[in-house]
Amino acid sequence: MIYACEGCGFLFYRIGEVVQECPFCEKNHIRSATEEEALRLQKILEQGNSAEVQL
Ligand SMILES: [Zn+2]
Repeated sequence: MIYACEGCGFLFYRIGEVVQECPFCEKNHIRSATEEEALRLQKILEQGNSAEVQL
């Protein structure tokens, strides 16, 4: 599933495990990404190899 950090805006993708903390700023302000954010991340992933992106 795709997560977004409300603290720093980090957008990332994880399979399986439930993420409680942002891997970037380490705060627990994680929420599920909106559909729009998910699409944005998907486009970025199609262009590169990174599974994580900061917006
Ligand atoms: Zn963060």
